[in-house]
Amino acid sequence: MNTTRTPLLQTQRIESVPRNLRNIGVAAHIDAGKTTLTERILLYTGAIHRAGDVHDGTTTTDFNPIEQRKGITIFAAAVSCHWTQAASEDEGIVHLFPGLQHQLNVIDTPGHVDFTAEVERSLRALDGVIAVFCGVAGVQPQSETVWRQANRYGVPRLAFVNKMDRVGANFGRVVADLREKLGANASAVILPWFNGDDLLGQLDVINERALRFVGGASGGFTVEDVPLEAREAVSKARVELVAQLADLDDAVATLWLSNEPVPSRVLKEAIRRATIANRFVPVIGGSAYKFVGVQPMIDAVVNYLPSPADIPSVRVHLDDGAESQIRVDASDPVAALVFKLAYDEQGRRMVFLRLYAGALRKGDRVLNPRTGKSSRVGRLVRVFADRREDLEVAGAGQIVSVIGLEGFVTGDTVCDPERPVQLEPPVFPEPVVSMAIEPRASADRTRLAIALARLSEEDPTFRTFTDPETDQSIIAGMGELHLEVIRERLEQEHRVAVNAGKPAIAYRETILGTAEVDHLLKKQNGGVGMYARVILRVRRNEPGRGVTIENRVTGGNIPAQFIKSVKHGIADGLREGVLAGYPVMDAHVEILDGAAHATDSCDQSFQMAARSAVREALKKATPVLLEPVMKVDVDTPTENQGDLLGDLNRRRGKVHSVEMGSTSAVLKADVPLSELWGYANAIRCLSRGRASYSMTPSHFEQVPSALAAEIVDALTSK
Ligand code: GDP
Repeated sequence: MNTTRTPLLQTQRIESVPRNLRNIGVAAHIDAGKTTLTERILLYTGAIHRAGDVHDGTTTTDFNPIEQRKGITIFAAAVSCHWTQAASEDEGIVHLFPGLQHQLNVIDTPGHVDFTAEVERSLRALDGVIAVFCGVAGVQPQSETVWRQANRYGVPRLAFVNKMDRVGANFGRVVADLREKLGANASAVILPWFNGDDLLGQLDVINERALRFVGGASGGFTVEDVPLEAREAVSKARVELVAQLADLDDAVATLWLSNEPVPSRVLKEAIRRATIANRFVPVIGGSAYKFVGVQPMIDAVVNYLPSPADIPSVRVHLDDGAESQIRVDASDPVAALVFKLAYDEQGRRMVFLRLYAGALRKGDRVLNPRTGKSSRVGRLVRVFADRREDLEVAGAGQIVSVIGLEGFVTGDTVCDPERPVQLEPPVFPEPVVSMAIEPRASADRTRLAIALARLSEEDPTFRTFTDPETDQSIIAGMGELHLEVIRERLEQEHRVAVNAGKPAIAYRETILGTAEVDHLLKKQNGGVGMYARVILRVRRNEPGRGVTIENRVTGGNIPAQFIKSVKHGIADGLREGVLAGYPVMDAHVEILDGAAHATDSCDQSFQMAARSAVREALKKATPVLLEPVMKVDVDTPTENQGDLLGDLNRRRGKVHSVEMGSTSAVLKADVPLSELWGYANAIRCLSRGRASYSMTPSHFEQVPSALAAEIVDALTSK
């Protein structure tokens, strides 16, 4: 097997987008074995030399101590490694790229639903995904969530059905689930091979060979003839595979229709084309933990998942806001997406980039089109499991990390100052839960502020601000677990112990009506006075558009230099709604007219006048309270379906669909987050532990008026 480490080819000139590169992610429902599989990939590619097991906390991509304790992978880390397919076909295994060294960049993606934003951001950086499923539990609701996200970004996938060594594992059922529950055009390319209940290895359907795995961590596999008793299963699977590909690929269709045998190479090339086109999902059965099937899966990654060169163009926004496409090409101006920000052991900022076009050189000056500021590329590094390698240059398609690069945060574009373009940033949902925290030792205040600023820079779904009344820090995020993890990171990474309040729903406010206000600020108490007049109108924006401000002042009635002050004042006034002090969303403000005084008008007067004007207008425009609504998917045995539906109704849930399987049903509903406290326990009791669920933030909806009055009363009587 391939265990030698070859230094990367580094040249001053990057000629083209590398075809021997695979940027891949490993995605799964929590506990399906994603961490174990990633570790095994690094082991067999020679990136690490000892197999780490999740239970002893030595795995590489989970390099954060909290993740090791919780046993979940939260912070998508990008790690590079190499893989060379065997050169000969002596053993009857045909490879598409025999003997060619490939570079793999493995981006770990988290499985917990509280961290879907992490999944979103990693999906923007990678080209293909290994979707890991548990052979016993099958397709679970969280794997469905990730699958839908991957569909949205059009990311090609292969499926690894893990834990085939466990009693109760059922490969065929998982393939059927992939087809039925996920609508995937999936077929087995490698089957698990059993002797009774013992997992011996795998059966290669395409090459019709048996792979016997021996020796565990340090071992490999031997290639054998398919034993007599398994021949029928293998040839049946091959016929099924060929028939399916005949529908998708002309080369296979021609042979199939004329009843000719389909050679392994032709079949593999067809699978590669269909997988890259997102029309087919190859499925492989194995066991990461028992070291069965990992090397053939890496071969499948190289064979079937796309290189950056297979994705010819990417969508960008130009300087003037127009949409365009840029070629994924090494000779074009540089365009890269920041998909991850982290601090290393020495506290240095590491900005992880996916390069889409051009080449980035150490010392280059690059522009952040969001801020209009440019910055110099200090050090350019590639991250391996156990070391970093300094690079002079990195080309289109690569994933690299830049040390420094102040002012760039996740979702930003890094581009050529001469050719500003903005890549589509990942979509980050608004926080739905908030919590007050304060340092246990008051001497830690500054430290806490710095730590919170860093954490929110790293994670765009995590927000932090100060409550002006209590002077407490408020942290807000995607769920209780998200905030819990933030709290632990404060204590462990930043050494600030905090006291935390109860998690609270992050409500918002908006307006239903329209109102116009003419506000005059005029103060004259000796010396220079204050004067500003602002006339503005507010109305509801379409849901999801956020706050927009439009300047319609003509004739310089508000001098140009004060328009900015008015906008600041408006934004400030909207930060705390007039009902209960929650931020206002989805409102449109038009600045209509105003007046200034030759000596008494200043930035501050216009800010104050605008702030008062917008708050007055909000009060007149029927303000209402909004609450976060979650999209909830429940997977339940049919016998518990009635109880769970009743429970969802009691929680003000709107059930959209009930999909019936043979023994289980999937309920899909929108449920207000405020009704979901303790849902995990409730669902466990109602189904005796057999139902599972996933939830993701969906949208904000108006709180029913009786309930809204209670919430406002409770807040104002505090
Ligand atoms: P993740 O949450 O998806 O990252 O899953 P982990 O890799 O942390 O694995 C969850 C648990 O399943 C751990 O206790 C692993 O040791 C175990 N596990 C992972 N892969 C296998 C496998 O192939 N077979 C068996 N029997 N257990 C496995």
